[in-house]
Amino acid sequence: MDNKNSVMMQRDLEVIWHPCTQMKDHETLPLIPIKSGKGVYLFDFEGNSYIDAVSSWWVNLFGHANPKINAKVKAQIDTLEHVLLAGFTHEPAIELAHHLVSLTPEGLKKVFYVDNGSSAVEAALKMSYHFHRNRGKEKPLFLSLTNSYHGETIGALSVGDVALYKETYEPLLIANRQVAVPKDQTVESAEEALLHLESVLEEEADKIAALILEPLIQGAGGMHMYHPEYLVGARRLTKKFDVHLIADEIMTGFGRTGKMFACEHADISPDFMTLSKGLTGGYLPLSVVMTTNEVYSAFYCDYNDYKAFLHSHSYTGNPLACSAALATLEIFEEEKVLCENVKKSAYIAQKLEIFKTLENVRTIRQQGMVAAVELDGYDAKERIGLRIYQYGLKEGVLLRPLGNVIYFMPPYIITFAQIDKMMEVAYSGIEQLLSGSLSGNN
Ligand SMILES: *Cc1c(COP(=O)(O)O)cnc(C)c1O
Repeated sequence: MDNKNSVMMQRDLEVIWHPCTQMKDHETLPLIPIKSGKGVYLFDFEGNSYIDAVSSWWVNLFGHANPKINAKVKAQIDTLEHVLLAGFTHEPAIELAHHLVSLTPEGLKKVFYVDNGSSAVEAALKMSYHFHRNRGKEKPLFLSLTNSYHGETIGALSVGDVALYKETYEPLLIANRQVAVPKDQTVESAEEALLHLESVLEEEADKIAALILEPLIQGAGGMHMYHPEYLVGARRLTKKFDVHLIADEIMTGFGRTGKMFACEHADISPDFMTLSKGLTGGYLPLSVVMTTNEVYSAFYCDYNDYKAFLHSHSYTGNPLACSAALATLEIFEEEKVLCENVKKSAYIAQKLEIFKTLENVRTIRQQGMVAAVELDGYDAKERIGLRIYQYGLKEGVLLRPLGNVIYFMPPYIITFAQIDKMMEVAYSGIEQLLSGSLSGNN
């Protein structure tokens, strides 16, 4: 096979170590070199197209090479590409921060810029700990939910609970307690999990700085979903026990769950909210930690009182990334995106029903523009996710299952016909898995 794809692949494998990959897999599994993207499609060097059903790891909202975002980033690049954000500022950062304050739940009034999701989580954890310390309380523990994911840097990994990513590094991690996530989307399981949360807080709240959670959907934990009632209860209990609530909306933010932010489903305002992924429409790395005036004030004093938050990253608040984010928010305002998404998620819900008829499907679930089909009866060693992935590529759809969970998280610009294609390919892949005609690797 001496085509352009394989030439690119060879050159790549000489020098690139890919993320979240056992590199030996690529001895048999082709790497897909992408030449260009347009809308919901990615194109390789041989002209094959793929529907990006996972929004390129959940970041893309309005398609690849979106004309509005392109125009705004192009204009910014000729004006100011970057400047440090300590002692200096710039218009895209100022405007974006104002937009975010007006869009997010009421109590969130201050924006701390970071440059990727994990770093935002790190900053939020440090800020929470530091807040209590500035107030004279030593609270060295964090609380998080089982099956959670908050990123892969040491602090973020410590509060996460995906064994595949975490186990190896156990000796390096920071102190963390875990409480059980509600087991499904019912109110009953939310209430049950809240009882557990309350008992842990009763015992250890004096040592716990914050509870961090992914509101409504645990993404990397297999698109596990739970009822908003849990958020209502978690907010009430954390307030009662003087523990911060950190809502990690890195994946759920910007319309994914059907509302702009997942916290809105429960009408709660957390002490911290972390945002990234969709923030720039999938263009550039950028993240923020949003917090309250109360938190902000605990750091505000004379320099020599040494209470400032001395945390920084080189590319904090990059102007190109901020302008991509501004363009993204403009699209939300101009195009009635959330209304259109209601129709698309209803359509997805309807198409999801048929998966129930397959014997190897355990459950289906959905929240807004995220839908998942969980399969039953396969051993992890069978790597059925990989087989579905390969089948999808052959059929022109980029699906990237998480273990036995095949999920759909497309860009919002996906059309009804493209939804049909995306879901039909997944369906026939699962059906062939059942009949034994979907072979293993290559
Ligand atoms: C992706 C993700 C992160 C980590 O963001 P990165 O930019 O990949 O470091 C953190 N929290 C949640 C909920 C995520 O989905």
